[in-house]
Amino acid sequence: MAAGPAPEARSLMDEQTFLDNFNNLKYPRKTYLCYEVELLVGENHIPLDDYKGFVHNEGFDMGLERCHAELIFLERMASWNLDTELRYRITVFISWSPCPECADELVKFLRENRHVNLRIFAARIYDWYQGYEAGLRALKAAGAEVAMMTLHEFEYCWNNFVDHQQDEDTPFPPWDNLVARSEELSQRLEGILQPSVLVFCWPSQVSVTAAHSDIMSQASRAWEKRRDPP
Ligand SMILES: [Zn+2]
Repeated sequence: MAAGPAPEARSLMDEQTFLDNFNNLKYPRKTYLCYEVELLVGENHIPLDDYKGFVHNEGFDMGLERCHAELIFLERMASWNLDTELRYRITVFISWSPCPECADELVKFLRENRHVNLRIFAARIYDWYQGYEAGLRALKAAGAEVAMMTLHEFEYCWNNFVDHQQDEDTPFPPWDNLVARSEELSQRLEGILQPSVLVFCWPSQVSVTAAHSDIMSQASRAWEKRRDPP
């Protein structure tokens, strides 16, 4: 079965742009966001290929007012006027996870659009702004699924949002340590999305362990002294 409309029907990202911006070991300044929409009918998910594409943040390198990719996407979603009598699932693959302000805007959107489920897969965690953890937790609390992109999502994006001019069957070329980095980030995200007790306990355990280790080494040195001949 054909996988959606012909490439001319919607914009696709070129291969290098995808590889440069979604690499979970790099720190590019841009944010790319790929999206797709499905209509939920009973147990079925019906892809709506008219609402599939990508956006990126604007203004960061042009001296213009900055606009994050999520806000551009929210405007685009608003323009669709999705039927409030129906149910939709929107899936977003984003190269940097939402900053606190964008998370707030997405939460507002979810509160005002109860007919929409949102899934967010991020390649990397954007921790530049204070409060990013709370923003991610607020998204989860508002019903959004938040997860890191794994090899599966990278391959999916490569097959669905990237223009393979030379050869449509070009397989996704994973970079070194993709899986290890994704697992590391998933664990970090899990810690962020858990109740905050874990976040507060962990450093104290470290300091207890450090203190314990210090006491042990002092005791050990004292014991060694006692054993030394006078
Ligand atoms: Zn933002």
